[in-house]
Amino acid sequence: TGGTLDVLDVSKSFGGVQALDGCTFSMRGGGVTGLIGPNGAGKSTVVNVVTGFVQADRGTVRLGGHGLHSLSPLEIARIGVGRTFQDLRLFDGMTVLENLLVAREASAPVARRGRRRSARGPGLDAATAVLDRLGLSDGADRWVRELSYAERKLVSLGRVLMTEPRVVFLDEPSSGVDLNALDHFGNEIRTLRERGAMVGVIEHNVEVIRMWCDDVVFMTRGQVLRQGSPGEVFADPTVLSEYVGG
Ligand code: ADP
Ligand code: MG
Repeated sequence: TGGTLDVLDVSKSFGGVQALDGCTFSMRGGGVTGLIGPNGAGKSTVVNVVTGFVQADRGTVRLGGHGLHSLSPLEIARIGVGRTFQDLRLFDGMTVLENLLVAREASAPVARRGRRRSARGPGLDAATAVLDRLGLSDGADRWVRELSYAERKLVSLGRVLMTEPRVVFLDEPSSGVDLNALDHFGNEIRTLRERGAMVGVIEHNVEVIRMWCDDVVFMTRGQVLRQGSPGEVFADPTVLSEYVGG
């Protein structure tokens, strides 16, 4: 893919809460960027702005030089920007396999949509491959609502992988999961990076950030306090005091 994603001076308030206050950072293709910071720092909100779910009051988001700000969530998904949600947002009344199949159809770019009616096979093949990679093959026909939290989280990862994203954001992948699920997230992030995708990971766990990320964006109070390598950012005394304080 190459190129960069640029978040430029983005502000957003909800009523009296200034969730983002001149937030600026960049991500690059083939890199994994950790978004970290105290609760309420604005991490999920900035991902919501980039993916079109929240309209910024001010500022712009550019992907490979093209502005994303006037596009809908669906349009942004169709140009290859995928994400998971902190609250997962799965279809509880569907099976695991169905959750993956609808994710692919909903985000299909125009070229792929044209072939949709005859693409039952390819969609199924892709879903089968993703389920296999995530260790969910045996559970393909189970109801999503019957799964453990860690399994549900893997389904949310599977759904975004089905869209073959060139930019992907994962909102708190490590929280509430077991080591098996954590390994699957790590493996898929590595694969995405090798394919040149841009990966943004919202995380609380510093060890996980050190393991997965090339670059860290530390946010606090709606702004970026520091961007750099994990070594640089976590050695910064201001970051440390904010993090412990937060
Ligand atoms: P983080 O993901 O870093 O924990 P969020 O981006 O979720 O932080 O939230 C930043 C601030 O914005 C918080 O104070 C939160 O309560 C507020 N906020 C986020 N989304 C909404 C919303 N839809 N309505 C009202 N307040 C919101
Ligand atoms: Mg959040």
